[in-house]
Amino acid sequence: MEKWLPVIDAGKCTCCNLCVEACGPGCLRVENGIAVLFDPGICGSEEHCIPVCKDDAIKMAWFLMRGNQRIGKWRVS
Ligand code: SF4
Ligand code: SF4
Repeated sequence: MEKWLPVIDAGKCTCCNLCVEACGPGCLRVENGIAVLFDPGICGSEEHCIPVCKDDAIKMAWFLMRGNQRIGKWRVS
């Protein structure tokens, strides 16, 4: 099954942390100067991280996921 997930452009991200604060499930964090989606399994795909990024560094894309959707244990293939 595919899942709609954010992709952060390392060349545009200025490490402002606004997307991390806007993410209700808490699946984004800043690592080594760039925001990363560290837990795609709990991402709600509702795009709250997109409009808060003033650097236009986040785009959404479809990714093939594996695992049990009902218990939220998805992994990007
Ligand atoms: S809001 Fe945009 S610029 Fe700020 S940390 Fe997130 S991706 Fe990077
Ligand atoms: S789409 Fe929603 S849940 Fe997923 S990373 Fe963005 S704000 Fe967080």
